[in-house]
Parts: sequence; C-alpha cells; structure tokens
Amino acid sequence: AIIREEEKEKIKGMNIDEYEGVWVFAEQRDGNLLNVVVELLGEGRKIADELGTELTAVLLGKDVDDIAERLIKYGADNVLYGDSEFLKVYTTDGYTKAICDLIEDRKPEIMLIGATNIGRDLGPRISARLRTGLTADCTKLEVDKENRRLLQTRPAFGGNLMATIICPNHRPQMSTVRPGVMEKAEYNEDRVGNIEKFTPDLKEEDIKAKVLEAIKEAKAQVKLEEAEIIVSGGRGLGSPEGFKLIEELAEKLGGVVGASRATVDAGWIDQSHQVGQTGKTVRPTLYIACGISGAIQHLAGMQESEVIIAINKDKDAPIFKVADYGIVGDLYEVLPELIKGLENI
Ligand code: FAD
Repeated sequence: AIIREEEKEKIKGMNIDEYEGVWVFAEQRDGNLLNVVVELLGEGRKIADELGTELTAVLLGKDVDDIAERLIKYGADNVLYGDSEFLKVYTTDGYTKAICDLIEDRKPEIMLIGATNIGRDLGPRISARLRTGLTADCTKLEVDKENRRLLQTRPAFGGNLMATIICPNHRPQMSTVRPGVMEKAEYNEDRVGNIEKFTPDLKEEDIKAKVLEAIKEAKAQVKLEEAEIIVSGGRGLGSPEGFKLIEELAEKLGGVVGASRATVDAGWIDQSHQVGQTGKTVRPTLYIACGISGAIQHLAGMQESEVIIAINKDKDAPIFKVADYGIVGDLYEVLPELIKGLENI
C-alpha cells in the first residue's frame, strides 16, 4: 500500500501509551447476536482482567437495545451502541466509518472481531484505515502483561506451524478470531454495566455500496459450530453413498453431519459440512470421526471437542492420537452395529 507522507508522520507520532481497554465487535444479524461474540466476550474478559482494564462491546445496528443488555450480562463492562438507520444492514463503508470514528476518539488498545464473513471484511478495512496491524484467523490469544502486548497465534504455512504474531508499535492491536475456538462467556442475569447509546456521524454519501435486497439461501444451513454431537465422514467412506450411514447415525444421536475436506473436494458432500482449517472449527460434546485419517488440517478444526471417538481400519492412523475412544475396524461393519445398538436403547 502507498502510505502518504502525512500518514507516515501520524504513525510515527502514535503514542501507544494513550490506548487502553479491550474492545469486542458485537456482530449481530437481523437482531440476533452471533455465538462468536459470546466467545469473544469470554476471551476478552480474561484479557481485560489480566491487563487490569475494562471490556467494552461495540454494537452497531438499528433498534437492537435488547442485545446491548445481553452483552452486559455476558460480561462486558460497557457497551458502545451506535443506533442508526444506516447501520441496519451491514455495509463495509458504514460500519468501517462508525468504528474508526469511535477508535480514534476513545483509543482502545485491543480490538477483537469474529472471523465471520462480515468480520473478515470489516477487520482489514478498519486496520488499513487506522494504519495498524491485524492478525487474521487467530486460534489462541495470550497477554504479555509487562509490555501490554497481545500474543496472537494462528496457523501458518497450511497449518504446518503455529505462528505467534505481535503488533509492537501500533494500536489498537487487532485480531479476527475463528468462531468455535474460544470458550463462551457465562450469562449472568445480575450483571450491571454502562450502555452508551449514540448516533454515529453517518450520511447517505458515506455509504457508497448500497444493499438493495438480501436474498436468503433456501437450503438449510448446517449449524456445525453450534452442534453438541457431530458425526463426520472421511475418504474412508469410499463413495458419496457412504454418507447415508453417517446421516443415519447422526440422526439417531440427534447430531449433525460433518466431513473431511477430501470428501468435499471429491464432491461427495457440500462444503458447508467441512470441518478443519479451511472449514468450520467445532467444539461439540461428542465428535465421531469415521474413516478420517486425522491430518493436521482436520484436527485443527475439531481437536477441542470434549469426547472424540475415531473409527478407522488403520490402527496407526493419526486420528487415534487425539481420540478418547478408538475402534480399529471397517466402518461398514462398525457403523451398522452402532446404529443397531442405538435402536435397542
Ligand atoms: P484420508 O487422509 O485419505 O484418510 C482416509 C482414512 O480412512 C484412512 O485413515 C484410512 O485408513 C481410513 N479408511 C479407509 N477405508 C476405511 C474403512 N472401510 N473403514 C474405516 N476406515 C477406513 N482437511 C480437512 O479435513 N479439513 C480442512 O479444513 C482442511 N484444510 C486444508 C488446508 C490446506 C491448506 C491443506 C494443504 C489441506 C487441508 N485439508 C483439510 C486436507 C488434509 O490435509 C487431508 O488431506 C484430509 O483431511 C484427508 O481427509 P480424510 O481423512 O477423509 O482422507
């Protein structure tokens, strides 16, 4: 990027000691708070407590007062709630301007954003406009308390190593964080905090790209990130028909169907089912991996599951290293037995 002379001066002149507080972008869609925000509030609370500072949620929208209340109950000390007709639906221009104005005015030291489609669009825009750094797709955040630095870890080189990145000379330190990775904040009905409702300084001409109509995808979305039980199929299924068995088991257990990338690439199942580094990150109570070898990129998306059961005919398959229970055998023998067993319960 070309940085103009006056901007270079601005960066040089940045006094990072002026910046304080941890902010979380509270993404909502159609008035529904996203789960990743609750996860960011859980993580943000820990970071704020370690730094001895406050946790603030930034909420943008129109008439979403009830969400502002809930953000407090999930652990935010403050909510900055920008209420405007211009923010009713997400636009890059509107949201970027509203948040950049706030950051320039209040100077937070950390800003966390969910790595959703919107977060992945918004985060880089804000960081570029403010000339600060952004670490995308973080899977772990820690604090170097002495230097007030955020240690931001994310997979690099196709997931073959984990890189820890810092933003030493600029503020805020910005991260987008993968949904499903951090632990959720607890809801406490009795928590109190400050809600500051304001009208952002936005005009019609600030928003260059207008949303004329939003057409919802007709197919039911696979709610992998929220599922308590996931039954996943891999290349070991041998053909797309194999997913019928996976579906049957998932249905019996009240779970949803996951998949490895190999099966998605082969066209056996839709990408919305993919678990892993380039798919969804999940943290269910139970994850059953059937015919999945356990490549590092797959593990990156599911190894935080509470209980992992692996079914694989190769006793040396890497999936067994993360599994709590392993069944060495042909899935076409094991799965029908399991399904039959569940029928008798
Ligand atoms: P395989 O590795 O081929 O494993 C199949 C397994 O099935 C074997 O262990 C075999 O022993 C077993 N098997 C075969 N027949 C049977 C049977 N009848 N009964 C029981 N077991 C049987 N992968 C992902 O999953 N998610 C991602 O998000 C992802 N992102 C990636 C990103 C990058 C940048 C790269 C480079 C790769 C990524 N991958 C991802 C691909 C990953 O490296 C693996 O190739 C993929 O996970 C392998 O899928 P699999 O385990 O289904 O297939």
